[in-house]
Amino acid sequence: MSAAQASAQHPTPIPPPLVLLDLDGTLMDSAPGITASVIAAFERLGLPVPDEQGLRSFVGPPLPASMRAHGVPEERLTEAVTAYRAAFEAGGMWDSRVFAGVPEVLQQLRGAGYTLAIATSKPQVYARPICERYGLSDLVDGVYGAPLDHIPSSKATVIADALADLGPRVPTTERIVMVGDRHHDVEGSAEHGIACLGVDWGYADPGELAGAVAIVPAVADLLAAISAQVRPRVG
Ligand SMILES: [Mg+2]
Repeated sequence: MSAAQASAQHPTPIPPPLVLLDLDGTLMDSAPGITASVIAAFERLGLPVPDEQGLRSFVGPPLPASMRAHGVPEERLTEAVTAYRAAFEAGGMWDSRVFAGVPEVLQQLRGAGYTLAIATSKPQVYARPICERYGLSDLVDGVYGAPLDHIPSSKATVIADALADLGPRVPTTERIVMVGDRHHDVEGSAEHGIACLGVDWGYADPGELAGAVAIVPAVADLLAAISAQVRPRVG
């Protein structure tokens, strides 16, 4: 029997399509706890607290970059991040909620055969207990976050970690889609050649998601938008 005949009899299973999901601003409204922790950190350091728009911009991107962008001098970055983490662990991390309809959409996606993985810039040491507490862990195939703050990371490195860990469950690139609310999601997935759907209910500024393949207006539209991008089954 030729190799071609053998492979026709025992075709290599094609992995189902994979959906990478951002957490903050996409699956969860985590702004209240994050902004309160930012305020606490700036007050602790005696630095001017960012205005409301500035505070919202902290939701999603890696923390040190946001601190830097809002006037924390390089030599006080560690102090600022430590103050933020203290406030976050003292309560901020539990001051969030899952957007209405999200659990149902995740169940529908899984029912349709998609592999689901959360890929967040939130450190993994927080992301996993938060997803556990809010009932998201059981609805997805993996939760991937950033390493600790002193190790540089980006959405692209988090996605790389997720793909490495999922291994044989990762389909070809055109059968993977990222869903996120910020330009970091668009850019991080683009580094892997992965298309990104932008969501309209998160924390992006107007025009920020210009690089997304489509904008999803509401949680209720997510299933259709993902299916239009990557079909759940081959054939
Ligand atoms: Mg986000």
